[in-house]
Order: sequence, then C-alpha cells, then structure tokens
Amino acid sequence: MIDAKSQFQPVLDRVLLHALTYLENLDRSPASASAPFQELRARFDRPLADSGVDAVTVIDEMARDASGGVLGSAGGRFFGWVIGGSVPAALAADWLASTWDQNAAIHACGPAVALMEEIAGKWLKDLLRLPHEASFALTTGSQIAHLTGLAAARHALLARHDWDVERRGLAGAPQIRILSSNQRHGSIERAVRLLGLGHENVIDLPVDVQGHLASDTLATALRTNPDTLTIVILQAGDLHMGAFDSFAELVPLAHRHGAWVHVDGAFGLWVNASPTYRHLLEGVELADSWATDGHKWLNVPYDSGFVFVADPKAHCDSISHRTSYTTFVEGARDQIDWNPEWSRRARGVAVYAAIRQLGRRGIADLIDRTCQHARALVTRIGALPGTEIVWEPTINQGLVRFCSREPHASAADHDARTDEVIANILRAGEAFFGGTTWRGMRCMRVSVCNWQTSVEDVDRAVAAVDRALTA
Ligand SMILES: *Cc1c(COP(=O)(O)O)cnc(C)c1O
Repeated sequence: MIDAKSQFQPVLDRVLLHALTYLENLDRSPASASAPFQELRARFDRPLADSGVDAVTVIDEMARDASGGVLGSAGGRFFGWVIGGSVPAALAADWLASTWDQNAAIHACGPAVALMEEIAGKWLKDLLRLPHEASFALTTGSQIAHLTGLAAARHALLARHDWDVERRGLAGAPQIRILSSNQRHGSIERAVRLLGLGHENVIDLPVDVQGHLASDTLATALRTNPDTLTIVILQAGDLHMGAFDSFAELVPLAHRHGAWVHVDGAFGLWVNASPTYRHLLEGVELADSWATDGHKWLNVPYDSGFVFVADPKAHCDSISHRTSYTTFVEGARDQIDWNPEWSRRARGVAVYAAIRQLGRRGIADLIDRTCQHARALVTRIGALPGTEIVWEPTINQGLVRFCSREPHASAADHDARTDEVIANILRAGEAFFGGTTWRGMRCMRVSVCNWQTSVEDVDRAVAAVDRALTA
C-alpha cells in the first residue's frame, strides 16, 4: 500500500500528468521549438532562492517554463540529426532506474541492475551479430564508446612493443596513427584527443562517390610507413548518406598489416538486426571493436551507447580499476571493469526493457520501417517543384536540396534557397529537418530514426515541405 503521507506520490502523480500531456499531444504539437531564446532563458533564470519550494510546484513550474522549448523529437515528425524517441517500456524502465537509483558501478552496489546490463549486453551481441566472446560496456553514447574501444586498441597495439601504456603513459611511446575516411564523425577526433593520440595522427582518406573507402586507397595508406602502429576506423553508416565501408574486404586487409579495426556504427550497426539490410554489414564481425548507440535507432531514452571489444583482455586491462573498499562478487560482472565511469546510472535497464518489448522481430521491423519512410520522404520531397534529390537513402539517411528559381542562379543561390526553405519548415513547426553542407553544397538532411514515424507523419511532412516552398 502507498502511505497517504507519501512524500513522493503527489509529485509523481504530477509528473505522470505532465509526461502524458507531452506524449499524447505530440501529434498536435510543433516538432520545432517555438519559444524565443531570450524569453525561454528569462523563464528559467530566477534568482537562487534561500528557501526551497515544494516538489509539486517545482515540477509544475518546470513543465510550464519549458513549454515551447522542448522539441518534438519524441514524436514521428522529427527528422533532424540522428535522434530516436523512446519505446514505452524503455521510458518506463528508465523511470524505474531513476527510482531505484542504484549505483551501477559494480555488481555489489545493485545486483539486479548489474544482471540486467549483463543480459542486455549478451542480447545486443546477438542482435548485432557480433562475436559471442566479445566484451562490452554500456556507455553514454558512441562518443564514449569510441573512447573505450580506442583505449583497448591503444593498449593492445603498444603491448606489442612491450609498452605498458596504462603504467608508463604515452611520453616516449611508439607512435600510433589512425587511418580513417574523411567522412568520419567528429566524435572520433575527440576520442583520439582525449586518449593523447593527437589528432594530427589521424590520416584522412578520401571516399569514392558512393561514400565508401576503397580498398586500394586503404592499401596504399597501410603500405606507407608500414611499421607504424595503426588503428583503422571503418564506417557503418555515415551521417549524410548512411554509407557502409566494405568490411569483408577492408577488415582482412587491415589485419594483414597488423592494424586494429574499430567500427563507428552509431546507428548503422543496427541494420544487422534486419534480414533485409544486413548484407550491408557483411564481414563487420571480423573487426576488433565496435561502437553503436541505443538512443538512436533502438529508441531508448538518452543517454545510451554501446561498445564491444573482440579481445576482452585488452578492454579490461585498459579500463579496469580495483580498490580495497569495493566488494567484488565471485562470478559477477562488475561494470567498472569495462566502463570508463565510476559511479554511473543503470542505463542498461532501459535497454533490457526496449529489447524485451520489441523482440527480435520488432527491432527488424523498426529498422525496415524507418528505412522505407526515409526513402518515401526523399523521393516525394524530390518530386516537388524546385527540389532535387541529392542522395536517395539506402538505409534511413537521405539528402535533398532546394533550387533557386532565379534564371542563371548560382551555386550560392541554391544554397541560400535551401537554407530559406529549411527555415520556413522549422518556423511552421509541422516537421523538423536539419541543414548540412555536403560535398560543398547546402542540403537538407532526411533522417528517420523514431519508432513512432507513420505513413501519416510522412504525408504531413511532405505537405509541410510543399507549403514551405511557397511560403
Ligand atoms: C551520433 C553519431 C556519433 C556520436 O554518437 P553519440 O551517441 O552522440 O556520442 C558518432 N558517429 C556517428 C556516425 C553518429 O551518427
């Protein structure tokens, strides 16, 4: 029974109401933010008070103050960046994880959540078709997944020169270079910086017109200074085209040269969960480490990413830390051995719940459905007057642009027109798309990641673009 004097019930009742008001109205609400920036700031920027306020007031005022400043990214008409929503069980499980407030650093601090994370990791390897022996960590996102995977790479490569990097650091260590296509995500650069590898040591390799790293390009780079310790970064779904490198060809090539292969599959690794699309990832299981996200295509709440490492010892040796005051349970998996954090949120609880709600088939459907919606959006927007398809999606990422109607329009005019149409779309708020510069040209990205996106949402978004063209 719930105590009538519960400190929690009134505020949790309110939060449920606010949550449902947001979720159940997504269909009728703008996908973009409508509150002007200065007004939004003025609402929150109250003086720091000496006395506190009751919890219900805090939550009620927070919901009120945030209105117009919360994007509709939880809903089906949001196609900006690569952003997923939350399936209901994942959202609810995340609330439970906050309620339990376990410290998911070690098993002894929260046995149930540690076990859910352990099982979620096993399920993820199965869904993503990665080696069963691989180790894993549930991180905040691909950024920290890269950091963790590349820490394992740094450890393993330097160990070949009997250099214990965890003990000695990098000063005086053999150099490590990173070979990567020039389409890599900026999070690779930051992981490299944080690991002390220096982004000057990242060598940019050009991609072909399809966005792939060609094997002779990689082979030439590997043959240059062949004795240098090398990490090769391969792409499973780049953020503009969703392009996949040819893993079956490139991973064995990199391995013949002694390189460690790390895969950035922030969203693209998920196509391995779909029989329709998994041919794009053939050979990906041969790599040494993989990074992907839960908060994008799996549709669990932020923050949620995953790293997997084929050599668990390299992973553990680079991350693990043991102290006398922690308690270790025989046979249990301690997250601190694999995660670069100490105290941490039990973010695997939502992952466990999402996988259970969707099942293997539900996840495959989610992937297939969002890819279909992305293709429909791009082809239908591309059929509107004054538009051009720049990249028709192979998965869930596409590009369009809007052309100036002026005679003798220049490239700059088309760029300006593209930005103008995107601004019109966001002002109207019926759908959300973002802009980007791709191969020197302004484009609008079409990215579909949300489990809620429906055929009606696609219709509404295409109509919104049509209106924005004449606005
Ligand atoms: C989103 C993304 C990242 C960064 O992932 P976070 O989860 O935001 O840390 C890296 N690579 C690609 C291809 C991405 O789309």
